Amino acid sequence: MLIRENVSLAPFTTLGVGGPARFFAAASDENHIAEALSFARARSLPVFTLGGGSNLVVADAGFHGFVLKIEIPGIRPLSAPPDADARIAVGAGVEWDAFVQYCVSRNLAGVEALSGIPGTAGGAPVQNIGAYGQEAGETIAAVHAWDTRADKIVELTRAECAFAYRGSVFSAAAGRYIVLQTEFLLQKNGRPGAQYADLRKYFAGSVNPSLAEVRSAVLEIRKSKGMLLDPNDSDSRSAGSFFKNPVVSRDEFAALKQKARAAGVIAPDEAIPCFDAPEGNIKLAAAWLIEHSGFSKGYAHGRAGISKKHALALVNRGGASSSEIVSLMKLIQERVAASFGVALNPEPVFIGFETWGFKEKR
Ligand SMILES: Cc1cc2nc3c(=O)[nH]c(=O)nc-3n(C[C@H](O)[C@H](O)[C@H](O)COP(=O)(O)OP(=O)(O)OC[C@H]3O[C@@H](n4cnc5c(N)ncnc54)[C@H](O)[C@@H]3O)c2cc1C
Repeated sequence: MLIRENVSLAPFTTLGVGGPARFFAAASDENHIAEALSFARARSLPVFTLGGGSNLVVADAGFHGFVLKIEIPGIRPLSAPPDADARIAVGAGVEWDAFVQYCVSRNLAGVEALSGIPGTAGGAPVQNIGAYGQEAGETIAAVHAWDTRADKIVELTRAECAFAYRGSVFSAAAGRYIVLQTEFLLQKNGRPGAQYADLRKYFAGSVNPSLAEVRSAVLEIRKSKGMLLDPNDSDSRSAGSFFKNPVVSRDEFAALKQKARAAGVIAPDEAIPCFDAPEGNIKLAAAWLIEHSGFSKGYAHGRAGISKKHALALVNRGGASSSEIVSLMKLIQERVAASFGVALNPEPVFIGFETWGFKEKR
């Protein structure tokens, strides 16, 4: 395995910002991972596991450790017809959307609404990717990972993965597990997930869209929002949605509505969009909060900005530094807190930010 020094990380991320990794290598199997871990341990270096870099903000100073890019290939069916359910093992380095395409073309239902999400199949369980009413954790049956604490390969069941809204055991125990392979349980000839409002609107009048139709609808909707990677669309030079949708209690919701009305942030009869969340809580739309705190789509902040198509995506407008992205993030957080008293938490993972005064999130 080739271990390189001082490798610029920006080209390995979709946001395209950030400095170099002190050491960098790509692993296509377990032996490479063992080699990288022992190299890093011998030098007391922290290790960061990199997938497709689509949920990352790398500091301008880079990362003073070992970046291990996971390139484990392979999509392998584990069950054969006539099984109604299909169990498929996917290497962590497989491009996520290539896996979705594989499933849709074989009429396997369960991940079609997750079409077009960038990144790898190994990155998918980490933040439990979700879109248009589906989450990866709903169809993941097991994850095989290298447990760097126990220094052995382990198999985690779905329950042990502890999937939650944009989270899992892999993000909670940051850096502990290196995902090697994920097993999905999909439904042969199952009905597609098309219940989400955007999809219902798209298919108005069409009763039973096929998996392929749902996939193509999702890709079209994502493209219109700059949420599909496209070298010709500068609005897709992002890390996807930059903030999680905040979840508040009903009391907090009533208080923030009152505060926003009293301060004239919203009109007396204006409603704040909200959705039911688990445990009787309320989920707010981060994009709406941002747009009602003095920002609009296309807002420019030096070479960073807000996407012209989606208020939740911070973009590199061309040659942006990581500090510009983080400075815009903080500005948005401050204004949303001032307008609504709501804390917006970032969705991407930050690496190399020890000197910025906020805890590195991996
Ligand atoms: C245009 C755009 C649209 C997006 N739309 C969505 C969306 O609709 N829904 C959604 O949920 N996300 C979305 N995202 C975010 C992103 O695509 C997902 O979070 C994706 O799963 C990240 O995977 P990755 O391989 O790129 O991970 P990376 O960005 O490389 O890493 C992210 C985290 O996962 C860890 N990681 C990656 N691979 C492994 C591994 N093999 N083992 C252990 N840890 C690993 C990293 O250490 C890091 O902590 C979008 C991003 C972009 C740029």
